[in-house]
Amino acid sequence: MATLAALAGIDVAAVKGLGGQRAAALHKAGVHTVADLLYHVPRRYIDRSRKELIASVPVGTEVTLIAEVKSISTRRPRRNLAIVEATVFDESASIKAVWFNQAFRARQLSEGAQVALSGVVESFRGRLQMKSPAVDVLDSPTESLVTGRIVPVHPSVGQASPGVMRRAMHNALKRSHPIGDPVPEVLQATHALMDRDTAFEKVHFPETLDEVEPARIRLVYDELFRLEIALAMQQKKRKRDASGIAHHPTGELTQRFLDGLPYALTAAQTRVLDEIDRDLRSDEPMHRLLQGEVGSGKTVVAVTAMLSAIESGWQTAIMAPTEVLAEQHFLGVVDLLAQADLSPEMLGRSSTLGMDSLFATGGPAVHVAILTGSRAATNYKSEMTRDDLLADVASGQIDLLVGTHALIQEGVHFSRLGAAVVDEQHRFGVAQRVLIKEKAGESDPDLLIMTATPIPRTLAMTLYGDLDVSIIDEMPPGRAPVVTKHLPRSQEGEAWNLIRAEVARGRQAFVVCPLVEESDKVEAASATAEYERISSLMPDLRVGLIHGQLRPAEKESSMAAFRDGETDVLVATTVIEVGIDVPNATVMVIEDASRFGLSQLHQLRGRVGRGEHQSVCLLIGDPTTTDGEERMVAMVESNDGFELANVDLAIRGQGTLFGTSQSGLADLKVADILADREWLYRARRDAFALVDGDPDLSKHPDLAAEIRAMLGDKVEWLFVS
Ligand code: ADP
Ligand code: MG
Repeated sequence: MATLAALAGIDVAAVKGLGGQRAAALHKAGVHTVADLLYHVPRRYIDRSRKELIASVPVGTEVTLIAEVKSISTRRPRRNLAIVEATVFDESASIKAVWFNQAFRARQLSEGAQVALSGVVESFRGRLQMKSPAVDVLDSPTESLVTGRIVPVHPSVGQASPGVMRRAMHNALKRSHPIGDPVPEVLQATHALMDRDTAFEKVHFPETLDEVEPARIRLVYDELFRLEIALAMQQKKRKRDASGIAHHPTGELTQRFLDGLPYALTAAQTRVLDEIDRDLRSDEPMHRLLQGEVGSGKTVVAVTAMLSAIESGWQTAIMAPTEVLAEQHFLGVVDLLAQADLSPEMLGRSSTLGMDSLFATGGPAVHVAILTGSRAATNYKSEMTRDDLLADVASGQIDLLVGTHALIQEGVHFSRLGAAVVDEQHRFGVAQRVLIKEKAGESDPDLLIMTATPIPRTLAMTLYGDLDVSIIDEMPPGRAPVVTKHLPRSQEGEAWNLIRAEVARGRQAFVVCPLVEESDKVEAASATAEYERISSLMPDLRVGLIHGQLRPAEKESSMAAFRDGETDVLVATTVIEVGIDVPNATVMVIEDASRFGLSQLHQLRGRVGRGEHQSVCLLIGDPTTTDGEERMVAMVESNDGFELANVDLAIRGQGTLFGTSQSGLADLKVADILADREWLYRARRDAFALVDGDPDLSKHPDLAAEIRAMLGDKVEWLFVS
């Protein structure tokens, strides 16, 4: 009997029909092994066992028609409207299908193609038509897996069409069957779950449509059960190993800091700070997720919390996902402290960063330093080497260390790390969160994780184990919402006109380059090309460039020039996605916007609208998919991250909710955490109970093997005692 753990050890390239190029594309899409493949479930099923004839379809109900394309045409009656019409026919009659602003349908469909159109048939001016049906282009209709039965439509990957995927799945299942099942029988019985081997069979090749849902539920349960077991183990391990710090903040630094700010905290910021303060004072380690819309003011909250820890005699650290962002945080922190006369003897940085106002003024000084991979910056003392810096961290001289992953690498030791902040947590793996604690020595520092990714509270707690959640649900006053517009490529001139007008008013603009996935190198080349294009389009403006391949010093000076108003336009890749704070920037232009995910677009848009000036976000490009089209519409219609997250869920499942690859533990393939949340709670209850009685899963070796094989490196540390 095969086990899922064993199948997770077999490369998907071994499946007949999926070698070579196809395997490479599958790997890229996250389908590495045969086990992954089995979780690549159909997105739709077409019922060919009961043939629906066009002549007799009922008006007003959802149907799937199998037909041949007779003709296709595109009309553009208005500037912002493209209408694609296709006439399709079967042996009984023909019918018209219409799509609005889905110009790519004309490319997707070709005369003579066999298609399945799913949607509602309407009566329009006395004739039947389908409005915006979903389309599946079918392979040759004579194939046995397709005729006279329920046809699964698997998501295509690269060049592997649904037909290719379907045949490969058939092979993979035949060779894997029967697959063992490590889920305790009593749990299966409690929830009346379908037998798992059967579930794999039925989810891919059901005989009737009624079989699909119970089969899917079985796989959903398993997927969530594995995740929750990992989370339960994580919680147990954390509690067992924990020895927290009870901070006793005096209020001296924090009060001075808050008094020095040019604004008052919002009610939401104050409430969240109270929640954090309670955690800091408690002797249980804080483990808190701080959620807040982009621009809601999380950084000030984090710095205040760190000052509380510092005034109680501890060191603090803040970890950012990129060097650019670490640099930005460093400057931000130093700047904030300077406003309250809390800045240290800042020396030596003025030459590199164009900052010359940061000198000690006699009050209490907070020693801030920055550490990134490529450079232990010449820091709070002039002429400081990396070793000097590490020595000062180890001796407790440095109160607040800003950095990237470099913070948790070899050689970094704190004398007394009392609190750590991790920014934009979706970029960090769980293991890293644990590592940062190990840097601390004796006690567990309080941990604050900041994210702008909106996740409903209950789900966040369920997905991230036992995190407490604080939400800043209010924007600082006086922010006019960013106005968003979608421009077809042919009208991009409007964007350049707007930039010129805003620059004439003294404002600045970002231009984000098209997303290139191949490699950093290619991305850098495309950014450079875009930089040249923009420079020649607007020769009168001062244009800067920033991308991931620049050397840190180059990135830094490019950011500094923009921040100081020495450049008008910053051409950038998504390195600017998170955290960049230049309130004078009022225009965000995103090239080929429909290729970005919604959360990424929302993050990018959050780079403007951060000051008192009205800001605009322009999305340029002609979407080539319905999803892309829908994302543009959603961005134009909503400024609310939570709402966009829901749209995102509706468009493409929970995928983007957790960022892309390094998404912590949750990388769900079958379960939809919103729609399936009842199963999430059940799986969680079962998992926590099981781990309570068997903390290291020694009584459930098959289950342990499956979890390790399916969740990979992300959970290995749970099994180390
Ligand atoms: P986030 O990290 O949540 O995206 P930031 O902390 O970078 O947001 O804050 C965004 C901007 O808002 C910064 O320029 C910051 O100085 C400013 N800001 C923060 N809190 C307030 C407040 N209470 N009132 C006015 N401006 C604020
Ligand atoms: Mg931030």
